[in-house]
Amino acid sequence: MADAKPFKPALIIVDFQEDFCPPNGSLAVPNGRSVAPVVNHLLTLPFSLKLAPRDWHPPNHTSFAANHGDSPPFTSSTTVIHPSDPSRSYTTTLWPVHCVQGTPGAQLVPELDVARVHAVIDKGMDPRVEMYSAFYDPFHVSDSGIAERLRAEGVTDVFVVGLATDFCVKATAEHALEEGFRSYIVEEGTKPVLLDQWPECRKNILAKGIKMISAEGDEITRVKSLS
Ligand SMILES: [Zn+2]
Repeated sequence: MADAKPFKPALIIVDFQEDFCPPNGSLAVPNGRSVAPVVNHLLTLPFSLKLAPRDWHPPNHTSFAANHGDSPPFTSSTTVIHPSDPSRSYTTTLWPVHCVQGTPGAQLVPELDVARVHAVIDKGMDPRVEMYSAFYDPFHVSDSGIAERLRAEGVTDVFVVGLATDFCVKATAEHALEEGFRSYIVEEGTKPVLLDQWPECRKNILAKGIKMISAEGDEITRVKSLS
């Protein structure tokens, strides 16, 4: 059946990097590496644009607990202040040192079929702000250019996979929606890092209007049918 609505899908594979994967990742997502077969299968489908953003932090990044004295990772936080407007701020979780530019932990996992990716895009390079989303940080002082890239390609629908569901995948899917794209997370292609909080987080994602879909679902069948 022909569908009147335009459909030009993009695939965004978020932060599929060594530091987010067992066995050696400093911020390993449980079973993170196991999503590789699903991600690689999606990469064979005729998405108009296939992007792989990666966390690419300088050593002095504000999200590292080690840069905040004795603050323990995961359970402590820091206040990020807007670089040019001190009246604006947000609180963000502190993490173990991860994905430092050029280190082995920052490399995309070798399982990823990167030859099928159109572009690898670095994010999180401004040491002053946290940047979970592959689009931009909460203050929009650091912008990866992904939104412009999607629009230039005429993309209508954005499918997000990668690590971790509850942080960078979620933030990327939220910004995709806010930028006017239909936004989906393919559940078999992603894993959350904070398992105890995941059921609540999943509800919040759905409440925003992001669809959590299966790699076997109708939306993916529709992508396949484009070929
Ligand atoms: Zn990071």
